[in-house]
Amino acid sequence: MGNLVECGKDIYLCKSCAETALRCFSAKPVPAAVQPAMSAPQTPREFAEELDKSVIGQREAKKALSVALWKHAQRLRGNTAVPPAHVLLYGPTGCGKTYLAQCAAKLLDVPFVRVDATTFSETGYKGRDVQEIVFNVLHAAKTRSQAEHAVVFVDEFDKLSAHGGGDRQAYQRGTQHAFLTMLEGGVVTVENKQETAELDVSGLLFIFAGAFPGLDEVISTRLHSGERAIGFGSQPLGKAQENTKNLITQAVSADFMTYGVEPELIGRISVLAPILPLGAPDLVRILTEADGSVAAQYGAFFSQLGIDFTLEPAAAAKLAELAHETSTGARGLRGWLEQLIASQLFDMSESKSIRITVEQLEGGGSRGRKRG
Ligand code: ADP
Repeated sequence: MGNLVECGKDIYLCKSCAETALRCFSAKPVPAAVQPAMSAPQTPREFAEELDKSVIGQREAKKALSVALWKHAQRLRGNTAVPPAHVLLYGPTGCGKTYLAQCAAKLLDVPFVRVDATTFSETGYKGRDVQEIVFNVLHAAKTRSQAEHAVVFVDEFDKLSAHGGGDRQAYQRGTQHAFLTMLEGGVVTVENKQETAELDVSGLLFIFAGAFPGLDEVISTRLHSGERAIGFGSQPLGKAQENTKNLITQAVSADFMTYGVEPELIGRISVLAPILPLGAPDLVRILTEADGSVAAQYGAFFSQLGIDFTLEPAAAAKLAELAHETSTGARGLRGWLEQLIASQLFDMSESKSIRITVEQLEGGGSRGRKRG
């Protein structure tokens, strides 16, 4: 009886067998490679073509991101020899940074986790510990292998740029280093008052994003300084090379270091993808043409309620113009349209139809113009 464990009435197990079984059950399962959906894109070009269906404009960013997505797909299939391709999306607000990252996660069929960089701090300091992202990832994933390959979107990353000196700079530097630790991979164990969790973060895809106001001045100063920047994509220098319209497309890693991103961190972000301001024609397409366009979303929603919804082309053009003028990007479009719809819904007659016309925008334009 000495080597037997009683497991129930008249049921005994050999102690060493019981211990072996216990070890097997509690062992961490070997992460299975996630099988992407059958229709998943197979090449960087196919990724770009899929992104084209939903994301208007941003050609350069989509091209750069597609290569990163293709690499991540290889890693998803178990090919860990492919190095991680973390991404930095930089450019104005409301022009598709979050949306691109969401579309990317959807194409890869992995969870999407959005966090705000400014809510974090280094371990031991006031604020959320960066490693707690592991909780967000596990909560968003259905399986552990999905969690291990999630897309983590770190918004407002530019706000961690270290400058100005003092405590603030020390906090920004410290938080960047905490993100660096995550990019270095390995198993992270976290606990808070409610739970404890463990995740191998080596397979996560980090997409950092921020507006980086003033980055164009950093680039311009470098271009005029006559120094040759180090880094992939660096241009020969001199005034002649400066294309002031899309200056941010000429950014290299060194510019982000000047801006205040720690060299070790920017060194681990291999894909720099510029997001450009959207022109009025792009904004019209976002309203009316893109997969899941704002107009299509409202059309589908109202048709379920038996309401006929029409956005006149001239009204779409006017809305795009307003969003462009006020530099609110595509985010502005939704806001304007929602206001117009709300006022019509309120007055809706028996006809059960909503029609957005250019006259409404011009006549009642003051309602719209107050926004922005
Ligand atoms: P950002 O993260 O750059 O501030 P978002 O990606 O959150 O902006 O954009 C807000 C919304 O506007 C998105 O959810 C999407 O519906 C729409 N949008 C923005 N940019 C684009 C784009 N280039 N193509 C299609 N839709 C866009």
